[in-house]
Amino acid sequence: KTKKKIGLSTQIFIALLIGALFGVVIHYWIPSSYIKDTVIVEGVLYVVGQGFIRLMQMLVVPLVFCSLICGSMAIGDTKTLGKVGVKTIGFYLVTTALAVCVALGSALLINPGRGLDMDAVQKGTVSSATEATSLVDTLLNIIPKNPIQSMANGDMLPIIVFALFVGIMLAKLGTRGSVVANFFSQFNDVMMEMTMAIMKVAPIGVFCLIARTFATVGFSAFAPMLKYMGNVTLALAIQCLIVYQILLFVFTRLNPLKFIKKFLPVMGFAFSTATSNATIPMSIDTLSKKMGVSKQISSFTIPLGATINMDGTSIMQGVAVVFIAQAYGIPLTMGNLATVVVTATLASIGTAGVPSVGLVTLAMVLNSVGLPTEGIALIMGIDRILDMIRTAVNITGDAVCTTIVCHQEGSLNREVFNKD
Ligand code: ASP
Repeated sequence: KTKKKIGLSTQIFIALLIGALFGVVIHYWIPSSYIKDTVIVEGVLYVVGQGFIRLMQMLVVPLVFCSLICGSMAIGDTKTLGKVGVKTIGFYLVTTALAVCVALGSALLINPGRGLDMDAVQKGTVSSATEATSLVDTLLNIIPKNPIQSMANGDMLPIIVFALFVGIMLAKLGTRGSVVANFFSQFNDVMMEMTMAIMKVAPIGVFCLIARTFATVGFSAFAPMLKYMGNVTLALAIQCLIVYQILLFVFTRLNPLKFIKKFLPVMGFAFSTATSNATIPMSIDTLSKKMGVSKQISSFTIPLGATINMDGTSIMQGVAVVFIAQAYGIPLTMGNLATVVVTATLASIGTAGVPSVGLVTLAMVLNSVGLPTEGIALIMGIDRILDMIRTAVNITGDAVCTTIVCHQEGSLNREVFNKD
């Protein structure tokens, strides 16, 4: 008790800031050389950063699987599970639709694509990544043909379905299933312990990820795209700092500022990794330890949200639609805008929680209103930074909905939430 230690959250923040600064310094002030390019940027920063993401990813499938089994087993009856499920999905859909409206509204005011200097934009090439599965197949794919294969591929929805089944059956079996039930609950403890151990090195990982991004990207590509980037960032900020916080307050009467303060390190983590999936363990851990959200609920709703609820992504898509339409001089009707609200909400369900997928599902949204998919090439060059910001919003949306549902189910510990 002699020295006050700096908390992990603060450490992550400091790492974010210093990392960004370090990256900018390397990009602008250190001339290109073997040491800089190969040893520092593509060597140390890349290896340590990616190594850290891999460590977090390593946790995801076993953690989601075990904690979901334990959660559904503890809730036990299918009625309550069904109620939680329906409510959560309802919240997820509504917040996503709201997000698209915020995006379209702000873009129609700001006009991000008007007067764009197309020649100055660094264009990427749109690859064949635009293949989309049909709606029927997407729905059918939720049921795993082979659960082991789904786990091997890291497909979240089928894993969720299978784990729910196992948990419910274990609850039904009662003492006859106690060996298996104990196994999963102990394995779950192992995974949570591992999460905490790995999170200790988060500041180092975050530092390397951010430093490498800024060292490679720099700011020159941004100049012609500033209006678009500003627009997306503004809409993301409105969603995160206003829409979510109003919803949280109206439904739970909890202090929104406290929520943001406690959740900020998780956002920082999502920001530096740009993947919702890798953020699942940290999100569940923070919600339970700092906000009093029951793990029984969060172990179900957080992985589900990381897979189907992408409010940040749908905001980028909403703004991108207006941007591309304006850049190509194609007018959008009210009907078009309504179509975008529906398709961007669906696209959010189909977007996986890994980097850059939002750009792929954007093709589906553009198609739905007859805009050229080549337009994606315009925004590709600068998407990385926006991907980071929108991922932070994606996982905040999951956490807000989870807290609300948990409150409504009467399993939120307000004392834990209100404690600093
Ligand atoms: N990177 C985002 C996520 O993981 C998905 C996307 O918008 O590309 O949440």
